Amino acid sequence: MRILLLGKPGSGKGTQSKHIAASRGIPAISTGDLIRQAIRDGTELGVRFKSFTDRGLLVPDDLMIEMVAERLAKPDCKPGFLLDGFPRTVPQAEALDRMLAEKATPLQAAVNLDVPDDILVERATGRRSCPKDGTSYHIKFKPPKTLGVCDACGTALIQRPDDTEDLVKSRLEEYRNKTQPLVAFYQARGILIDLDGVATPEQVERRIESALNNTVRATA
Ligand code: AMP
Repeated sequence: MRILLLGKPGSGKGTQSKHIAASRGIPAISTGDLIRQAIRDGTELGVRFKSFTDRGLLVPDDLMIEMVAERLAKPDCKPGFLLDGFPRTVPQAEALDRMLAEKATPLQAAVNLDVPDDILVERATGRRSCPKDGTSYHIKFKPPKTLGVCDACGTALIQRPDDTEDLVKSRLEEYRNKTQPLVAFYQARGILIDLDGVATPEQVERRIESALNNTVRATA
């Protein structure tokens, strides 16, 4: 399947994309993760990315489009893929359409996780993760057994530098101005799946799986 997840920062895209992609045997491609890796590696591109992510701003379209085109050309994307966090602007969505049209492999579903802003700030600012095994926690909704330490491997948990209240608010503003129009974009193409993202991660996952199964049945 070729799927993407849309949603505001903190709406659960990252958590859901890992589960959905694993259950379908396709790679989950998170542009946010690719960007954070480049920043950690200290590459020239990483330094440029950081100047945007540090301010809660979107990275310029041309850089993102090139990065995703390279990633989608890898062999593991042949059976399908799940994009998490791309596209985030109309020009990115148009570029993705062109890339997929060249291979006659159009997108089948754009899942939008709907969560109100006030909930998002609390969700995002409380997020913590294990830098070693990637397990996600939340200081209120899913705390580790020992404060600040990963249950599985005992590594000290970290907080994303852009998960502060000010930066989450800037990211929400960017979402409203540049990403929100994609809901109408995919609705017009008849592939939008709009879901209520306010529930436990397990409940949201079941909602997504059932909507995707219906989509597969309808297009089979
Ligand atoms: P995320 O982990 O998806 O929340 O992304 C973290 C940050 O990376 C965002 O706030 C943006 O600065 C940047 N980013 C991720 N994906 C994109 C994209 N498709 N276009 C532009 N910037 C992006």
